[in-house]
Amino acid sequence: MRIDILTLFPEIALAPLSDSIIQRARGAGLVDVRGHNLRDWSEDKHHRVDDSPCGGGPGMVLQPGPLHAAIMALKKENTRVILMTPQGAPLKQARVRELSSEGHLLIVCGHYEGIDHRIVETLIDEEVSIGDYVLTNGAIAAAILCDAVIRLLPGALGDSQSAVEESFSDPDLLEAPCYTRPIDFMGIKVPDVLLSGNHAKIKAWRREKAEERTRKNRPDLSDHA
Ligand code: SAM
Repeated sequence: MRIDILTLFPEIALAPLSDSIIQRARGAGLVDVRGHNLRDWSEDKHHRVDDSPCGGGPGMVLQPGPLHAAIMALKKENTRVILMTPQGAPLKQARVRELSSEGHLLIVCGHYEGIDHRIVETLIDEEVSIGDYVLTNGAIAAAILCDAVIRLLPGALGDSQSAVEESFSDPDLLEAPCYTRPIDFMGIKVPDVLLSGNHAKIKAWRREKAEERTRKNRPDLSDHA
């Protein structure tokens, strides 16, 4: 898989992808991730890429010219062009799974007030939000999307079952609580069933606790009453 990130801050986007599991996936050649600075496509002598909003109002808007030139230069025939924006569809694990089977993602990051809407209308395939809150720029959001996608690439996780038995594998269910040694920590013991060796009982317990946690923490997900 190839991922290109177009941003004013390539170093912010790439930093979280340069350690641990994701760095190992990159090192193993599962994914080729590259950051690109939008200013490289500016024709302004000061490398300016923004201007004030038409109609007035606060802040600045990323101009269409550099964005158009950059996207056209980085886009290939089968590229999925994604804009990170709080106005996009909230990112869900099911969509992450689908995106992990794409061959090439081009992730466009906004800054200031966002990007000129003519680019959204003409060159963006999909608008993605990482949640109902507003960040200063899209580089962190892009890194989050990349992390979620890359860990699902075959071979990225040490145990491929990790991505099968986790929160949102069933879109409406969180994972059950997990424990490790010591068995007794400050007088609180690991539930007996997890030490029983009885796999059927453990599976049933995990299902019950997963539903219990979902009801408590995410009552919006579905009816686990
Ligand atoms: N003026 C925009 C609005 O009200 O919708 C917010 C712009 S935000 C300050 C600047 C950039 O950060 C956006 O263009 C986007 O790339 C990124 N961003 C901020 N919040 C985000 C979110 N929740 N999900 C994805 N990207 C986000």
